[in-house]
Amino acid sequence: MPELPEVETVRMGLSRLIISKSITDVAFDWPKGFPNSTSDVEAFLIGANIIDVRRRAKVLLIDLSSKYTLVIHLKMTGQLVFRGEEQFGAGHPNESLIGKLPDKSTRVQFDFTDGSHLFFNDQRKFGWVKLIPSLEVENLDFFKKVGPEPLHDEFTSAVFIDRMMRRKNSGVKAVLLDQTVLAGIGNIYADEALWGAKIHPSTLVRDISKTKLVKLHEEIQFVLRLSIEKGGSTDRNYVNAEGKRGSYIDFARVFRREKLPCPRCGSTIIKTRVAGRGTHTCPKCQRPQFAI
Ligand SMILES: [Zn+2]
Repeated sequence: MPELPEVETVRMGLSRLIISKSITDVAFDWPKGFPNSTSDVEAFLIGANIIDVRRRAKVLLIDLSSKYTLVIHLKMTGQLVFRGEEQFGAGHPNESLIGKLPDKSTRVQFDFTDGSHLFFNDQRKFGWVKLIPSLEVENLDFFKKVGPEPLHDEFTSAVFIDRMMRRKNSGVKAVLLDQTVLAGIGNIYADEALWGAKIHPSTLVRDISKTKLVKLHEEIQFVLRLSIEKGGSTDRNYVNAEGKRGSYIDFARVFRREKLPCPRCGSTIIKTRVAGRGTHTCPKCQRPQFAI
């Protein structure tokens, strides 16, 4: 699954290219990936202008002048490709980013009045594009449950600690990965932030001092901002706005660095399993019993 920085990379690339464009037509080949009624499509999509491209957690939202919104989930292999005077491709890094489109992975094609196109490609067909009234976006089940955005100004360390303490008897990594606690943190950024704050991933939240939790909040924002700046991680599925691979993973301090030295203390980084996920830690900086 993509994480927050990868979807933000898609959002930034698309914002630059499709806002103010007007949709003339849409075609799709996979009804589950585009589960919208013909009457809604004709009334609220065709002829509408794109007024904004937003992101909530790992979901993209394309707002239309018709007061409807396209809600897009890329899932495992989704990809968005813009073709016009400029080219843009982001998502699953396969030949479709640069090849002729539509191709056999194309699920939805949007045509714009200026002759440009936006393609939603998805080899494995888990992703989807839903057209719903903009006012109903916040009522979708997913949006009601998902936690706050970690990079918003309102997401202070006090808010973070309050949300973490709701699951104070659980291991900290499992809580960070819980999308109802906060939005968009996956395996890479959980490992990186915990290393930054010198906390062992299996430490129970209640055993972590307030000072350490404040540090963890800082580290989460640091790793996410750094990754967005670098165009997302190269972890399999994501490339940035110009079709180049993101470079965050090159800057990772522990993730996928098992058997390499910890950049802080030189100890050998180990890979274990915590919260059911492959987990990278420094055995010296992140001691299980001393992570207070
Ligand atoms: Zn270390």
